[in-house]
Amino acid sequence: MSKIIIVGGGLAGGLSAIYLARRGHEVQVLEKRSDPQQDISSYIDQASSRGIGVSMTGRGINAVLGAGIPKKELDMCGEPIDGMSFFVKGKFKTRKLVPIDNLSPLSLDRSAFQKLLNKYASINGVTYHFEHKCIDVNLEQKSIITQDKHGDLHNISGDLIIGADGARSQVRQAMQNIIRRFEFHQSFFRHGYKTLVIPEAGRLSFRKDLLYFFGMDSKGLFCGRAAIIPDGSISFCLSLPYEGTTSLKMENPKHISQFFSRYLPPMPVDIHDELIKQFIEKPSNDLINVKSSTFYYKKNALLLGDSAHATAPFLGQGMNMALEDAQIFSQLLEKNHDDFEKTLPEFTQMRKREADAMQDMARANYDILSCSNPIFFMRVKYTRFMHQKFPEIYPPDMAEKLYFTSTSYSQLHSLQKKQNVWYKLGRMN
Ligand SMILES: Cc1cc2nc3c(=O)[nH]c(=O)nc-3n(C[C@H](O)[C@H](O)[C@H](O)COP(=O)(O)OP(=O)(O)OC[C@H]3O[C@@H](n4cnc5c(N)ncnc54)[C@H](O)[C@@H]3O)c2cc1C
Repeated sequence: MSKIIIVGGGLAGGLSAIYLARRGHEVQVLEKRSDPQQDISSYIDQASSRGIGVSMTGRGINAVLGAGIPKKELDMCGEPIDGMSFFVKGKFKTRKLVPIDNLSPLSLDRSAFQKLLNKYASINGVTYHFEHKCIDVNLEQKSIITQDKHGDLHNISGDLIIGADGARSQVRQAMQNIIRRFEFHQSFFRHGYKTLVIPEAGRLSFRKDLLYFFGMDSKGLFCGRAAIIPDGSISFCLSLPYEGTTSLKMENPKHISQFFSRYLPPMPVDIHDELIKQFIEKPSNDLINVKSSTFYYKKNALLLGDSAHATAPFLGQGMNMALEDAQIFSQLLEKNHDDFEKTLPEFTQMRKREADAMQDMARANYDILSCSNPIFFMRVKYTRFMHQKFPEIYPPDMAEKLYFTSTSYSQLHSLQKKQNVWYKLGRMN
């Protein structure tokens, strides 16, 4: 049994803790936020006091179930999704997704899911230190220093440090300082985002079983996504450029109102006004892409989830990949009899390839969304038609595999490239 220190008790940290505790390790999680079972305020939307939506697809669901969390309890954190609806030029175009293996994606309440992870971590004997912010990491000594809410410092050491502390990871920072030729690339998109939450989604004529997309007709100015979660609220994630007349900088209520009327469906006046108010009051957030040349240091430390490969949510896969990281790490430990020296490089080699593929696909999707044209819809129709007609030679639709299966991102990426070739050939014909 080894003592494992996990920095960050978010989604990747929570699920890894469960997997590792189930393997018999002593697991301690250091989390800078408060305990969500006692105080949920830092895990939810402050303006509406409701959860924030995030979509969980097949691979995320499989990773959660693999850690012994019952499907029934996971389902209570989300609404099953049957399709996607695109609001274009005042009309919804809905596309049904046909589940493979009866596994529908979930429109998840992120805070409810976090509580579920923490519940099962505790059941499996994981120790949490909440309101402990990691401020220093010593990779040689396998120790960290945390600061608690009273300002007191704590030195904690173990046999392995896992960095699950998100896009601005302290553990990754320590790797940068110590690893020769460590390559790190951080980039931002032309767009940032704001999440607006309406507590009573029932008053809008949106369906619970659909994921909604907006701004396809904005010529790359704007893209938005909305989904209803089980607490009855709806989260609109609106992505806009930082600068310009129509941007995250908009402050004039009349201007914002015109923008909403142009790109969102009609809604009751009080909800429309509430969205404007939240848009003005809420700060904008950055969309960040993080690439590291390696995810491990000796047999001492490993990065998982966003700390290794944060990606803008244009594919909706960051959390799903983070959860899958936890599962794959556990599977490799099983194969290698918990030998960290063997497992850490193997994990890195395997997951770096997947992370790169996932990030490339997310960026490609961003390019589609940010320079949208009608060809996008024609292309989806064309792909489905060709696959139905020539299933043996024409690859199936990528989105369905992405949403319902755990097909590796690298396979999906090469599928996407093949489809591009087929599509071009089809157009020539
Ligand atoms: C707007 C938006 C929408 C998204 N939608 C989706 C989606 O629909 N589907 C999807 O799969 N992904 C989505 N993502 C991506 C997803 O949110 C992330 O990939 C996911 O949260 C990664 O989980 P993580 O545990 O690695 O990191 P995080 O969720 O960032 O967790 C990191 C944890 O570490 C803690 N921490 C940080 N620093 C320290 C420190 N110094 N000391 C102690 N604790 C620390 C934090 O408090 C946090 O709890 C979205 C992202 C954004 C921005």
